[in-house]
Amino acid sequence: MTTNKAWTLAAYLSGGLPGGENFKLVESPARAPAAGEVLVRNIWLSLDPYMIGRMIQQKSYTKGVELGEVMTGEAVGEVVESKHPDFAPGEKVVGITGWQLYPTAKGELFTKIDASADVPLSYYLGCLGMPGRTAYFGLNEVGKPKAGETLVVSAASGAVGSVVGQLAKIAGCRVVGIAGGKQKCDYVTGELGFDACVDYKAGNLHRDLKEACPKGIDIYFDNVGGETLDTVLRLVNVFARIVICGRISGYYAAEPYGIKNMGSVLVNRVRMQGIIVFDWADRYAEANSALAGHLAQGRLKTRESVAEGIESAPAAFLSMLKGGNFGKQLVKLA
Ligand code: NDP
Repeated sequence: MTTNKAWTLAAYLSGGLPGGENFKLVESPARAPAAGEVLVRNIWLSLDPYMIGRMIQQKSYTKGVELGEVMTGEAVGEVVESKHPDFAPGEKVVGITGWQLYPTAKGELFTKIDASADVPLSYYLGCLGMPGRTAYFGLNEVGKPKAGETLVVSAASGAVGSVVGQLAKIAGCRVVGIAGGKQKCDYVTGELGFDACVDYKAGNLHRDLKEACPKGIDIYFDNVGGETLDTVLRLVNVFARIVICGRISGYYAAEPYGIKNMGSVLVNRVRMQGIIVFDWADRYAEANSALAGHLAQGRLKTRESVAEGIESAPAAFLSMLKGGNFGKQLVKLA
């Protein structure tokens, strides 16, 4: 008998960071698939900032996790047993199956991975997965980069930010990252090839960003919100575009940050738009193929933070929310 281990939501989050009391590890026999279902052995689990929003009882763009339900999340795995005509044992799949080892679910929930591609499976949760597609559509559809423009991206060493910056370089922009700490900034310029990177933890964000963007900012891809967004608003050019992708600085803040520089949006005729990646679900194939092409040609680099074993998921999630990750945060399950 195969034993499944799953992290469930034990208590809703009511502000602040999650702790041990919010999660419960539950063991049960893996469920044999019924007609139309497949049983999968998960290999890689993705941990993402959006999960914090699913732990709070609030109206959002999608349904939250219920108490006692398996924590939501995307994973890459291998089909163990199939009662679905499109899937066979041994095939690699990706699906939103949650923080667990052996999900059993309808075949329609899974997307097959092309096993002939010479790409690590974990990349389908990072640069070739949801974060990569977020970067691709947010940048191209809302940021609309033009050669010679200056693009700034926050959480620049992370899963989404690292792809945004590299795609913007390919589009011919001057690319400036914002990241926490010298090590991350050195990686962003040295490895990813950004033109500059500003350490927001050094305490002089406005001065340092101004120096790094001598011609002002044309596009800001915002992953963090709060004070960083407010500071960027002081440096944007006329007709700048701001992609509101994430606001991680506010996900666990005690009080919402009040933006002071909204006047700049009017004066500079700034176009600011929130994005949710699944609004482009009908065009995922386009993004997947563009990102895979850049990766194959060495134009897209990536880095991962790997926690080991299902037991480590809550601690790794908390660490990622506080910036402890360096690149895409994953849990290796098998
Ligand atoms: P990352 O890999 O970038 O990891 C999160 C990073 O956020 C940390 O490493 C840390 O980097 C940074 N961070 C944490 N706290 C703060 C803070 N208080 N102020 C500034 N930065 C902070 O995560 P992802 O790439 O997966 O996600 C990036 C953003 O994109 C998130 O806000 C996420 O919610 C959003 N997102 C939105 C999607 C959409 O469809 N709209 C889809 C996917 C992601 P550092 O050490 O540099 O501070």
